[in-house]
Amino acid sequence: MMFTATDLKQYLYCARILYYHHCLPAIRPVTHKMEAGIRAHEDESTREARRSLRPYNLKTAERHFDVWVESERLGLRGQVDLVLAEPDGLVGQAWVVEFKLASRLGDHWKLQLAAYAMLLEEQWQIKVERGFVYLIPLRRAEPLDLTTRLKRQVEAALAQMSRIAQEEWMPEPPKVQAKCRDCEFRRFCNDV
Ligand code: SF4
Repeated sequence: MMFTATDLKQYLYCARILYYHHCLPAIRPVTHKMEAGIRAHEDESTREARRSLRPYNLKTAERHFDVWVESERLGLRGQVDLVLAEPDGLVGQAWVVEFKLASRLGDHWKLQLAAYAMLLEEQWQIKVERGFVYLIPLRRAEPLDLTTRLKRQVEAALAQMSRIAQEEWMPEPPKVQAKCRDCEFRRFCNDV
């Protein structure tokens, strides 16, 4: 079973979204909010290519946009918005960056970033211990330590996701029901 990093992010927001995507794939609403997010991401990549590395507090790094990463071992793949890597010849180290159309950090993005770090570590044979969520409206990069603990949480989440998809088991709604207010699956959940 192969999941995407977006599956992981959505599972962490609400496990039931993963159930809909994998067990009822015909239900895939696309909202104006999602389309706005895609457009903002494309615009941000263009701006990012022109600006300095100051938001990341780095002196030198090569930028790699939209990097595809995949691991059969983890059963996970995804596309990293931006990888900042030390130039050739230096000690192997890189940072993963996600652009988000939001003004504050969501907890579910921490694990998404940790997952990208694990995929990149395996694919590029490089250390990835830090990342950034770039908050587009604030033009600010929020640093995140991508610890071993976070990476273990990614593995645990992936195991639970496999169980939901294989057993077609519909999870309970989230405890924080405010999450349901803006959810694109709102009309399919009759118990929230
Ligand atoms: S409406 Fe609520 S319970 Fe249903 S998928 Fe969305 S967040 Fe989850």
